[in-house]
Amino acid sequence: MGFQSQIQEALTALERAGLRRSPPTIDGPQGPVVRIAGRTVLCFCSNNYLGLAGHPAIRAAAQAALDQEGAGAGASRLISGTMTAHGEAEAALAGFVGQPDAVLFSSGYAANLGALQALVGPEDTVFSDALNHASLIDGCRISRAEIHVYRHADLEHLEALLASHRPKARRALVLTDSLFSMDGDVAPLRGLAELARRYDAGLMVDEAHALGVFGPEGRGLAAAEGVQPDLLVGTLGKSFGLAGAFVAASETMVTYLRNRARSFVYSTAPPPMLARAALAALSLVQGADDRRARLFRHAERLRRELRDLGLDVPPGTGPIVPVIIGENRSTMQFSEALLNRGVFVQGIRPPTVAPGSARLRLTVMATHEEKQIVRAIEAFTEIIREG
Ligand code: PMP
Repeated sequence: MGFQSQIQEALTALERAGLRRSPPTIDGPQGPVVRIAGRTVLCFCSNNYLGLAGHPAIRAAAQAALDQEGAGAGASRLISGTMTAHGEAEAALAGFVGQPDAVLFSSGYAANLGALQALVGPEDTVFSDALNHASLIDGCRISRAEIHVYRHADLEHLEALLASHRPKARRALVLTDSLFSMDGDVAPLRGLAELARRYDAGLMVDEAHALGVFGPEGRGLAAAEGVQPDLLVGTLGKSFGLAGAFVAASETMVTYLRNRARSFVYSTAPPPMLARAALAALSLVQGADDRRARLFRHAERLRRELRDLGLDVPPGTGPIVPVIIGENRSTMQFSEALLNRGVFVQGIRPPTVAPGSARLRLTVMATHEEKQIVRAIEAFTEIIREG
């Protein structure tokens, strides 16, 4: 069979298993309301938690940078240099999360791959939460470090693994999301920090979904918990409403990443307008206490009322509200039924989540109106009633 036909067969197999993905096209900007195929629907599946993606101050900063500094960075920074905008954004983002330095990456995926590949190798061991994001898992794999997966948020299991496997390793790293992206619950950061310290391991925390949402001024869950990880990953594509990411850490660690993280070294730097937009977003994020309060109010109401409908909403806090359905096809049918009622909620299937735990992943935004939350709950009610 030819290469083309083999791939066609693989695609057909995905289709048969209910795993083929075909996201809709959105006309116009992201926000609480989006347009799909000429229809206006409520969006409950964006990570634009604070509703900043279309904010005028961010657009203005990006436009001014475009005029003054141009559209592209030219090459990798190791080739064509660090532009002023990159340096300023890195210093501000590092300060925001209470770390001495930071390095920008073109995405969170690239940041996690680059950091893990650079910092650990075949002589080292990573202790990784079972529900960590795919980018952390892939980073572990390409690092070729020994990987031990501890049961989700289970400090006792982690300690047992550290006790058995830490002694053989040159370096050890404990690795976790802070707010878990598909489950909406939080990592036991203080316990993780304590175990990492006791077993002489580093601690790397991915704050992708928590930054802007938790902690004083949105500084994240580590700040909220008074934990200082060795490496803190933040992304700009979620609460910051942009794209890109950074790793914040000590000057030594960041300098090493600038030398050795292949997704930094061998990749064109983010455009200067992205860095300027990030600076504008940062100041909005810091002043967004009202938005955060609304976000948590919305999330709490959604959690409570979906549970009252008898739906399986696991414990959690913050803007990610999963509804576990189980089977792939019924999850996608539920998602379709919601869309038919004007509510856009994405179904999440394996391999993103464990087989048998397909789910609707609802996310709320600070800019949702109360009546939009009510409408989403009504749509669930109608679908359940109709069976
Ligand atoms: N880390 C986590 C926890 C994520 O959920 C994601 C993506 N949603 C990433 C990293 C990757 O970030 P990016 O989308 O910027 O590539």
